[in-house]
Amino acid sequence: MGLNSTRLRGIPQGQRLIRGSGTMEKMCCYDLHSHSTASDGALTPAGLVEKAHSAGVDVLALTDHDTVDGLMEAAHKVSELDVSLVPGVEISVTWQGMTIHVLGLNVDFRNQTLVKGLRELQDIRSRRARDIDRRLADQGIADALQGASRFRKGETLTRTHFAQFLVASGYAGSLRDVFKRYLVRGKPGYVHTEWAPMERALGWIRQAGGLAVIAHPARYRLTRSKLRRLVVEFREAGGLGLEVVSGSHSRDETLHMAAIAREHRLFASCGSDYHGPEKPWVELGRLRKLPDGCTPIWEAESWPAALAS
Ligand code: AMP
Ligand code: MN
Ligand code: MN
Ligand code: MN
Repeated sequence: MGLNSTRLRGIPQGQRLIRGSGTMEKMCCYDLHSHSTASDGALTPAGLVEKAHSAGVDVLALTDHDTVDGLMEAAHKVSELDVSLVPGVEISVTWQGMTIHVLGLNVDFRNQTLVKGLRELQDIRSRRARDIDRRLADQGIADALQGASRFRKGETLTRTHFAQFLVASGYAGSLRDVFKRYLVRGKPGYVHTEWAPMERALGWIRQAGGLAVIAHPARYRLTRSKLRRLVVEFREAGGLGLEVVSGSHSRDETLHMAAIAREHRLFASCGSDYHGPEKPWVELGRLRKLPDGCTPIWEAESWPAALAS
């Protein structure tokens, strides 16, 4: 698929929404966080768009980890279906020694600043993969890098691929289990990684004309004061949104994040963080409504008008 596809040629400059074939007069169902085989999702970008369509999603953001590789294929698919695509990315950021995920929504995925930044993160991923391989080898688990690579379908190598290899090799019964025993901080296959600094990641998103959103904020298990600091620094660096509704948030966590978004005047986003059918507790488009008092990110001035409900 070339860059000069008919579909993309038709997009006016500055408007990165890729419209599906239908109109959107009714209330929209937004799902602004999902993964494909370009990173650690199970479905191809086209398969994901099809799935979103059948799940009743009107506006889907594809947000693979540190890559925009799946967006072209997804863009082609939405041109056949009544779904709109928000070109996105989930960027790995290191903030205060912790990994934080920042979504870039509505990015121009051909923007060279963004593309170069993501390439740096891919290099960091490759180095980390070799380190994970070495650490696992010290535990008597040989050829983990080669094994993990067999599970990836795109360029991006994630811990999920190592987890899949470890489960397939009988080291644990489930992905959840294998993360707990091998791949999280303090465990034998864990490697501390310096991802992009917050300001740099937000700079790439801004350069690409996108909106930055903190992904699944309750997952980081931050104290109240640390969360506050994160949100304040994120906002000062140009961040706009908080993923209030997430496939991985409980009801209480959703309400807590809604309060934080309101207090700090951040737009609220919602996304399933769908990775595929093998995680059946997270479905595309099956999301709680945004709590009262939140301003949805699609009401932001910089959100493409054609995407708002
Ligand atoms: P990475 O960005 O390569 O460190 O991989 C992070 C990805 O691993 C996340 O986006 C999840 O998809 C997956 N992941 C992280 N923790 C867990 C867990 N406890 N169980 C299952 N998957 C996980
Ligand atoms: Mn993932
Ligand atoms: Mn994430
Ligand atoms: Mn994600």
